[in-house]
Amino acid sequence: MRYIEPHGHMVSRTTDDYQAMVTAGCLAVCEPAFWAGFDRSGVQGFYDYFCQLTDYEPKRAAKFGLPHYSWLCINPKESEDMGLAKEVISIIPEFLDRPNVLGIGEIGLNKNTRNELKVLEWHVDLAARNDQLILVHTPHLEDKLKGTRLILDVIQADKRIQPERVIIDHVEEHTVEMVLDTGMWAGMTLYPESKCTPARAIDILENYGTERIWMNSACDWGISVPLAVPRTALEMRKRGWLEEKIDAVIYGNPQRFMRQSPRFKL
Ligand SMILES: [Zn+2]
Repeated sequence: MRYIEPHGHMVSRTTDDYQAMVTAGCLAVCEPAFWAGFDRSGVQGFYDYFCQLTDYEPKRAAKFGLPHYSWLCINPKESEDMGLAKEVISIIPEFLDRPNVLGIGEIGLNKNTRNELKVLEWHVDLAARNDQLILVHTPHLEDKLKGTRLILDVIQADKRIQPERVIIDHVEEHTVEMVLDTGMWAGMTLYPESKCTPARAIDILENYGTERIWMNSACDWGISVPLAVPRTALEMRKRGWLEEKIDAVIYGNPQRFMRQSPRFKL
């Protein structure tokens, strides 16, 4: 089996996780910038984090033979502070030339507030001006449907953005269709409890097809499973999926999306 982990917060994982992923057939890992579990005290905290994502973490992954890519932004949870968001967005361009940077993400909404929406627009503008791919986080539970609609509206309102260069992550049964209908990509996050379980994700694939859709573990500092993608692939086998179909979902699709950035090489 071979696969790409398109969304893993590796800075919060151990070397055992890296070893297990490589052993399971992981050929590349992509790490969006996100909330650290606590609010950073200022722009310097983000500067250090971006250095970690573009310098230290790729080197750590390389020790296990795993190519590491990253995405940069201020996450929606800390975007409520618009002054901080403006400062953080202003330092991102100096990191965009780093060899492992794929784009702007994971941007989006957390509580669907006015400030978060404004910062989302700034990020979309940043991506458009710098010709970057976009990776979007959608809100949790009861905020997801409304938040996804708001996010799609913001992105579609910016005519510089090509939909096939945007992935909307953490889709579920009630949001996957509206995302795919826009021509954007959809990501399913495999969590043991919330978001998608493996069984639900495979149901979604069987209902909505395998075009422009990927699966990720979104493994971070909370309860999450770094091997969620290959484990779901085993579940797909049990359900009678053909090997080449599984390969198309767990390897082919993320590769097709990511290689729209000239930096992604496999
Ligand atoms: Zn994430």
